[in-house]
Amino acid sequence: MRLDIVTIFPEYLEPLNVSLVGKARARGQLDVRVHDLRAWTHDRHNTVDDTPYGGGPGMVMKPDPWGEALDSVIASGEGDTRPTLVVPTPSGRPFTQALAVELSECPWLLFTPARYEGIDRRVIEEYGERLDIHEVSIGDYVLAGGEAAVLVITEAVARLLPGVLGNAESHRDDSFAPGRMADLVEGPVYTKPPEWRGRGIPDVLVSGHHGRIARWRRDEAIRRTALNRPDLMERCDPEVFDGRDREL
Ligand code: SAM
Repeated sequence: MRLDIVTIFPEYLEPLNVSLVGKARARGQLDVRVHDLRAWTHDRHNTVDDTPYGGGPGMVMKPDPWGEALDSVIASGEGDTRPTLVVPTPSGRPFTQALAVELSECPWLLFTPARYEGIDRRVIEEYGERLDIHEVSIGDYVLAGGEAAVLVITEAVARLLPGVLGNAESHRDDSFAPGRMADLVEGPVYTKPPEWRGRGIPDVLVSGHHGRIARWRRDEAIRRTALNRPDLMERCDPEVFDGRDREL
């Protein structure tokens, strides 16, 4: 998968060199290209913002550098390949595991993390007509800029790419994984030692009985979802619950 990120803070994306994403890059599974938006400015001060039409506080990112930057990145694609545009914005569609799965199936993502009060709307309209576009919010709060949102989205997408996680099965039972976990969060997990500060582990986990362990994990997922995310329980598809689930 290819990822292009256009930003005024390229150094903010340095965490993409470490851990899972960094290793995926080193193995050639991810081709990440970070671009400085100011490279497409032409004045002495490399200006990327201006005052908002209609007045009010804050500044708005100018369309000209964004237009030149996006044209240049799009033109660098092989043949007639086109990126999928991902625009981080608090006014976007909520970022979910289902959207992470959808994005992980795209061969090329182009991110436009903004600063100030965001990007002149005409840029989004212009490229929304030429490319597949997702305006994405990572939560109901306002960040100072979209770079942290790009890190979040990239990490969630990268771990779904074939071969990126050591164990291909390991995201199958994650919280929100499509299927039986779609509207559930995962239950608690334990490792050695069997006793720590007087606290043991649930006996079933050392029973060696796979069926009972799977049942216990599902019960705990349902309990924890009901406790911490009643909003998810309410919208849960009744079809995902079996008879035993309903007894809980
Ligand atoms: N005035 C905008 C509003 O109220 O919707 C907020 C602009 S915010 C200060 C600057 C940039 O940070 C946004 O354009 C976006 O790129 C990014 N951003 C802030 N919060 C975000 C969120 N919850 N999800 C995704 N991106 C966000």
